[in-house]
Amino acid sequence: MYQLKNSEDTITAISTATGQGGIGIIRLSGKRALNIADQLFVPKNGSKPSSLKSSTVYYGNVIDKKTNEVIDEALLTIMRAPKSYTKEDVVEVSCHGGTTSLRSILTLTTTLGARLADPGEFTKRAFLNGRIDLTQAEAVLDIIQAKTDAFLQVSTNQLKGDLAVELEKIREQLMDIYIEIEAIVNFPEDEIDASDEAKNFAPLQKKIRESKAHVDNLLKTSKHGKILKDGIKIVLCGRPNVGKSSLLNSLLKTPRAIVSDIAGTTRDTIEETAQIRGIPLQLIDTAGMLEPRDLIEEEAIKRSRMHIAGADLVLLLFDSGADLTDEDESLMRDVNGENVLVILNKCDLSQKVDEDRINSKYQHSKVLKVSALKRTGIDALEAAIVENVWHDKHVDSHGLLVSNLRHIQALESCSSSLKRGQSILKDGVSLEFVSEEIKVAVNFLDSITGRNIDADLLNNIFSQFCIGK
Ligand code: GDP
Repeated sequence: MYQLKNSEDTITAISTATGQGGIGIIRLSGKRALNIADQLFVPKNGSKPSSLKSSTVYYGNVIDKKTNEVIDEALLTIMRAPKSYTKEDVVEVSCHGGTTSLRSILTLTTTLGARLADPGEFTKRAFLNGRIDLTQAEAVLDIIQAKTDAFLQVSTNQLKGDLAVELEKIREQLMDIYIEIEAIVNFPEDEIDASDEAKNFAPLQKKIRESKAHVDNLLKTSKHGKILKDGIKIVLCGRPNVGKSSLLNSLLKTPRAIVSDIAGTTRDTIEETAQIRGIPLQLIDTAGMLEPRDLIEEEAIKRSRMHIAGADLVLLLFDSGADLTDEDESLMRDVNGENVLVILNKCDLSQKVDEDRINSKYQHSKVLKVSALKRTGIDALEAAIVENVWHDKHVDSHGLLVSNLRHIQALESCSSSLKRGQSILKDGVSLEFVSEEIKVAVNFLDSITGRNIDADLLNNIFSQFCIGK
C-alpha cells in the first residue's frame, strides 16, 4: 500500500478560487493545525481555538502576534480528527476574499510551521487515512470539473460511494470463487464431486459467468458516462452561406459566430461549447468546401475534413430556398453515415431545393426542416441530436455510471481475465490457472478503488487536482 511521505506535516493552502470574492478560505490540516490557529486567531469570546469544540465556528480576528497587527476579521471553523475531511485536525479561516488578505494569512500559517499543500493533498490524505476510497476521491475532481448538472449528479453518486459499493460486491463474489478453487486444489478429495468434475465444474463456471456479467454491465454504462463527462463533438458542414454560423448561434442561444451573406466568411473553424438537455457539446462550425482561393482556405478545408472525420455527429446543411449546387452534390458524396443529421435550413423561404434528391441520398435519416434565422425547428433538431447521442447506449436508471477512463480500462482488463478463466476452466486445464486469473481480476478491481495501487499512479491522479482541494 502506498504510504504518505510527509504525513507528519501540517499542510496549508488557499482553498477558494483565485481572484476577488466575497470570502476566501485558508485550510489547514494536520497535527499542528490547532496550535497554529492558537497563534494567529483571537476569538471574540476570548477563548483559545485549541480549547474550542469540534464542528463549530467562531468569530474573531486574525492577528500577526509579532506586530500585534490585525490582518482581517474572520470566522474560524474547527473540525477535530477523525471527524474532518482528511480525518486529521482541520482548521479553516474564512476571511475577506481578494488576494492580499488571503496571501497574508497563508504566509502567516507557513511562518508558524505549516507547509504549502501539494495539489489535491487534502483529498489524498482523506484517501490515505481511509475516509474515502479512490473512486470517491476521483469523484471530488469530477464534481469540481463537471460541465453539466447531469454529470454533477453522476459524480455526486460516485462520491457517496455507489461505485465503490458495487465494485465491492463483485470483489466479494470473486473472492468466494477464489477460495472455492483454492480449497479444491488443496483438498481435492474433500471438495470435488466426481459428477462436477465431469461437467467441467458447472457451478464454478456459473459463478464466474455471473461475476463477469456484473463487470460487463458496469462497462455498458461507460459510453453514457463518458458522454455526460466529456460531451460529444458536433460538426456543422454545408456549402458557404447555407446558414451554418446562424444555426450555431441558435444552438448556442447567444450569437458568437460571424454571420454574413458573403460566401466563405468562416475561413477557419469556429469551436464553441454548449449543452443540450444535460449533454455537453463541442460545436464546430467548419469552413465551406469551395475550391480554395488561397493557402489559408486550403488549410481551412483540410481542417474541415479532419473535423468531419472525427465528429460524433455531423449536421449537414442545405439551403431550402435555393437549388442544389455542385458543391452540395460533392458534400452528399463525401458526408454520409449513421452519424449524419440532414438539415434543410432557411425554411422560412419558399422551398426550391430538390428534397427528393436529398431524401434518396439519406434514406436512413429524417430530413429536418429549420430556420436558423427565425429559430423554428430548433427544438426538433435538439431532440434529434439527443436521440442520436443516446441511441444504442445503455442508460442506467439508478444513476450509477462509469465515466472515468482509468476505471473503464481496469474493468475491461478485469472482464478479460474472467473470460480467460472461463475458457481455461472449460478446457479442463489446471484449476490453478483459473485461480490465477481470478486473482488478476480482483487486482484490477482493487486498482480502481485504490486498495492496491502504485505510488506513481496515485501521484498522477492527485496532481490533476487544484491546490487547496
Ligand atoms: P454560413 O456561411 O453557412 O455560416 O452562413 P451564415 O450563417 O453566415 O448565413 C449566411 C446568410 O444566410 C446570412 O445572411 C444569414 O442571415 C442568412 N440565413 C441564415 N439562416 C437563415 C434562415 O434560416 N433563413 C433565412 N432567410 N436566411 C438565413
